[in-house]
Amino acid sequence: MMRVNLAACSLSLLGLLFAGCAATVLATAAEPDLELFVLGTAQDGGLPHLGCERPCCVSARETGRTLFPACLGVVARPSGQLLLVEATPRVTEQVALLQKLAAVTNRGRRPVDAVLLTHAHIGHYLGLAFFGREVAATQAVPTFCSPRMAEFLRSNGPWRQLVELHQLELRECLPRIAFAPLPGLLVTAIPVPHRDEYSDTMAYRLRGKERTVLFVPDIDAWDRAPDLLTELIAGVDVAYVDATFYDGSEVPERNLAEIRHPLMTDTMQRLALVARARPGMIRFLHLNHSNKALHDKAVIAELERQGFAIAQQGERQVL
Ligand SMILES: [Zn+2]
Ligand SMILES: [Zn+2]
Repeated sequence: MMRVNLAACSLSLLGLLFAGCAATVLATAAEPDLELFVLGTAQDGGLPHLGCERPCCVSARETGRTLFPACLGVVARPSGQLLLVEATPRVTEQVALLQKLAAVTNRGRRPVDAVLLTHAHIGHYLGLAFFGREVAATQAVPTFCSPRMAEFLRSNGPWRQLVELHQLELRECLPRIAFAPLPGLLVTAIPVPHRDEYSDTMAYRLRGKERTVLFVPDIDAWDRAPDLLTELIAGVDVAYVDATFYDGSEVPERNLAEIRHPLMTDTMQRLALVARARPGMIRFLHLNHSNKALHDKAVIAELERQGFAIAQQGERQVL
């Protein structure tokens, strides 16, 4: 059984009756202290995907449909300080989107006040290169990550140069010990199993005074760590969850057993009761370009009927 906060559950159900949409965050009269925005929802390669000549990406190129790699941004009010969660290869557009959504301007060479990284796969940290001397030449931007990820950045070019020139300031976060990358924002790292070639991989819980958001964009299949899903979503109001592949049929050349990510169909089965009790709480992101939940309206309608949601670029949560 999943542990679900029943009080919060019935409150959110009540809220639903009036709001009509679980995904919508109710605006409060006073300006919230912390707001979170989704800046990207796709797998590392985004949509369209380099090298894909299938209809998913051919049509995206024709229509101009663009989805950035999974990424979040947080703004703290009233200071306007910004946190970027993941530095993807589309960091330029995503920081611009964050500044626009947060109505924060004139940032110059300090585009954000802090960066939080999950792991060293290309869609999650390559954007750090744009903090270097060829582009923004930032000054000592606090960059929060695991000790192993920090060691990888310190030891390997071109990232090492960012550290040596003090463009980034590495801050190592230890598992399950909360830290505050922005005033009022408490973040906790939870290690998750993943293809750990260069670094280990973290999921993050981001807690403000009102709500807690989970960010787990990349993880191995749930049966490799049976109790982890329960731990990850306990006490969480909104969960952004790895949805790289829908049911495996989108990668017919791969043996299902070799797919390391949880399939969306498996995640939906495990979280069926939670989604029914709290529609809109489980929000899928990190979708591969080929995932039918990006393209097939009937698939999207069915998962929404079950209480799940596909995260949308630009959506907002109050923390
Ligand atoms: Zn494609
Ligand atoms: Zn990864």
